Amino acid sequence: MPADRKRVDVSVLGAGAAGLAAARDLSQAGLRVTVIEARPRIGGRILTRHDPRSPVPLELGAEFVHGEAPETLSVAQAAGLTVIELPATRELATAGHFSQLGDLWGDVQRMNKELARRVAKRGKDFPVSEYLESARLPPLRRKLLRGFVEGFYAARPERLSAKSLGEEAASDGGGEPSAGERDETQFRILNGGDALMQWLRDGLDPERAEVRLSTVAHAIRWKRGQVAVVCRGGDGAAGESTVHARAVVIALPAAVLKAGALGFEPALPAKQRALAGIETGHVLKIVLRFRHAFWENPEFLKERRGNSNADTGRLNFLHAPGAEIPTWWTSLPVRAPLLTGWVGGVTAETLLAEEPASRLERGLVALSDVMAVPRRELEENLDDWASHDWRADPFARGAYSYIGVGGSDAPRALGRPVEGTLFFAGEATDGEQIGTVAGALGSGRRAARELLRATS
Ligand SMILES: Cc1cc2nc3c(=O)[nH]c(=O)nc-3n(C[C@H](O)[C@H](O)[C@H](O)COP(=O)(O)OP(=O)(O)OC[C@H]3O[C@@H](n4cnc5c(N)ncnc54)[C@H](O)[C@@H]3O)c2cc1C
Repeated sequence: MPADRKRVDVSVLGAGAAGLAAARDLSQAGLRVTVIEARPRIGGRILTRHDPRSPVPLELGAEFVHGEAPETLSVAQAAGLTVIELPATRELATAGHFSQLGDLWGDVQRMNKELARRVAKRGKDFPVSEYLESARLPPLRRKLLRGFVEGFYAARPERLSAKSLGEEAASDGGGEPSAGERDETQFRILNGGDALMQWLRDGLDPERAEVRLSTVAHAIRWKRGQVAVVCRGGDGAAGESTVHARAVVIALPAAVLKAGALGFEPALPAKQRALAGIETGHVLKIVLRFRHAFWENPEFLKERRGNSNADTGRLNFLHAPGAEIPTWWTSLPVRAPLLTGWVGGVTAETLLAEEPASRLERGLVALSDVMAVPRRELEENLDDWASHDWRADPFARGAYSYIGVGGSDAPRALGRPVEGTLFFAGEATDGEQIGTVAGALGSGRRAARELLRATS
């Protein structure tokens, strides 16, 4: 077949949230699209495990919709999925005692506003660690804020840009945090995040679009209006193939691009500079399924809460600053025998360097401390567990991105199209919602719009 007959309009690299959102819009605009995906599945860092013994799916990657994110909630609604709102309860665990956690979101917003003020005063960016070390804060609040920075942003505070957090505060509207801002609403998709991905995939026109799984893109040869994507089979399959297109949407994780896994001919030095401003966060997320949900037992909670917190309701989020795995949550509002442990930043990096069995052991020891339940009891009650090592995964190379010191323009620079031919998407290209599914979906749709404008 002559090369030109095989040529498609667009090749999309990566079938995660960003790539699928872009491919769907491009396909629905009538373009011929070939999606190249390295793994044998779609979804990228959305990895849902359906377990017949669990009433809720286990999410080993993304799980929450943070706030009223229209990018995600509109897809969930269009796909007819069930979205459930989480209760706002957060408790602090200290030496086996649970008390209501103060206004964590309010504290975070106050920190971000203070960071914005300090950046404006200094006239330049600085690491968030400087603030965490020097600010006059009560010891517990300092610990909780550090835990938040390491947990929520999965960041090393000494690398995280103060300016980027300050800009988040500015986009929240400045001033004292409002009641709505104080307790950030969170949602889960009850069907599982994979259903969101499948709906995007199902929207590709079968006549014009193709998804090639287990196909690893490793080089792009390009000039204006022409792209050759050189691929090899995943899972060690031999042989190369080339996809020819008029344009390409690159929707790969920033950490994969940073590692040089995709070569460009000619090279793109401006993208290398942008990538230098983006950091990769690491996370250990461990999901434990027990035979019975001991934390649902009213006696268990009464013993730990005492009388003053007796009517806090069911256990939802538990924070134990100082524990090796400091954040735990249940599956509320659904009652299931599941507990998820979470740690980000340097501790996650250390734990990820260990063998999986040792990660489980550390998880049980941490949980035993946090819940004040003997480790042996936890082990006897444990039915199964699951975790995915995103750092060792060659197609992720980490959990999600955050903005490095001096890098607040980096997401925009990374996302900027090149010569109407190379388009960039992925969570790392969305400065405002970096590190989220909403950011990834929005970036894919933005890249599709840019491409349609440039090629029409
Ligand atoms: C443990 C964990 C928890 C998270 N929790 C949340 C959460 O609660 N809420 C939230 O909003 N976000 C969360 N996130 C972040 C969220 O998962 C990501 O921001 C989002 O899924 C990224 O989508 P993406 O399309 O940009 O990238 P990806 O989903 O990574 O998609 C990129 C795709 O490219 C493919 N690929 C890589 N290399 C190649 C190659 N060479 N050739 C072809 N294909 C390639 C990958 O296989 C992948 O499918 C979490 C992430 C992790 C890891």
